[in-house]
Amino acid sequence: MWYFRSPEVVFGEGALDHLTQLSGQRALIVTDPIIVELGYAEKVVEKLAVAGIATEIFSEVEAEPSIESIRRGAEVMSRYRPDWVVGLGGGSPLDAAKAMWILYEHPELDILAVNPFEPLNLRQKARMIAISTTSGTGAEVTWGIVLTDPTDLRKVAIGSPENLPDIAIVDPVLAGSMPAQLTADTGMDALTHAIEGYTSTLHNDFSDGLCLKATQLVFDYLPQAVANDQDENAREKMHNAASIAGLGFINSMCSLAHALGHSLGAIYDLPHGRTVGLFLPYTIQFNRRGDAPTRYHELADFLGLPAATPDQGTVSLIQAINQLAEEIGQPRSIQQALDISVAELEADLERLVDHAETDTQIVTAARSPSTEDVRKLFLYAYHGRAIDW
Ligand SMILES: [Zn+2]
Repeated sequence: MWYFRSPEVVFGEGALDHLTQLSGQRALIVTDPIIVELGYAEKVVEKLAVAGIATEIFSEVEAEPSIESIRRGAEVMSRYRPDWVVGLGGGSPLDAAKAMWILYEHPELDILAVNPFEPLNLRQKARMIAISTTSGTGAEVTWGIVLTDPTDLRKVAIGSPENLPDIAIVDPVLAGSMPAQLTADTGMDALTHAIEGYTSTLHNDFSDGLCLKATQLVFDYLPQAVANDQDENAREKMHNAASIAGLGFINSMCSLAHALGHSLGAIYDLPHGRTVGLFLPYTIQFNRRGDAPTRYHELADFLGLPAATPDQGTVSLIQAINQLAEEIGQPRSIQQALDISVAELEADLERLVDHAETDTQIVTAARSPSTEDVRKLFLYAYHGRAIDW
């Protein structure tokens, strides 16, 4: 038995107007200072006012939300007593809003212990709306929450299907202010979600179509969205792709590139999408042995890449990812991404390997890596070397 879960998704230009049709008393908007500066929080306030809903803004979410700021936000919620929690922004404010919502409903909970297997009994006090302003994380349609534990520079994934937002607003106008670098970084995240969601061991008939379509949209529209921020069509397609990939992977789970990416990104403070996108081709190369090539073959075939055999399909897919990444200026090796020597990486290697091996996303890897494999993956990715396993 398995479940397919999705919020109500409102998409396309003008989707934000959906807020005017809600009923409720008070909404707390969880966001960050940049989004306030861009005027998006004010837009949300205006729409909710039309619906007769009073608002307050909590805009102290940092780039990688810490447990400390989650607690602060939950306290504000407890004082304000909203019946709507509105997450507004990229992955960080949306994940922070989900975590604050959990603590608002159950202040006694240890947020780090929240998991998919124990009931949370949410929605006693509020429901949640997620409004995305970047095109990548898919956090508006997913229940996973990534927090950073600053004490040992580790990313912690928590969450329960119960904290899936009730409504996701996917309005491309709100993604219109993304600078090219952010479009590229977050676009690589969407691509990694789609491909990992299609090839994880939990892939299924319900998520497959979403992952295929999202992969295709990213290949077709990401270069244009990065090259020309005035291309509204490309931006809209990428905004949709990110949510479609989010729905795909949250119902089948991500995999090895995310486990490696979380580990490297937390220690060296690299953007999530850039990091997981960097590892994606290496993990596909690693998966060339095992059952995964059939799935890569299907993906390559769907994209119209040379795919006469599973192996040719897999190789074509790797080449296509590398080509796309180069076109949009994404690093192809750790050496390119970070200004560190191999000795510096080796000094952190034990910790990097440990964090990757204990990441929740490694469980669904198409081929289970040994500790030695994980070490090699980091080192090969450092040098940008093709992996010959
Ligand atoms: Zn991701």
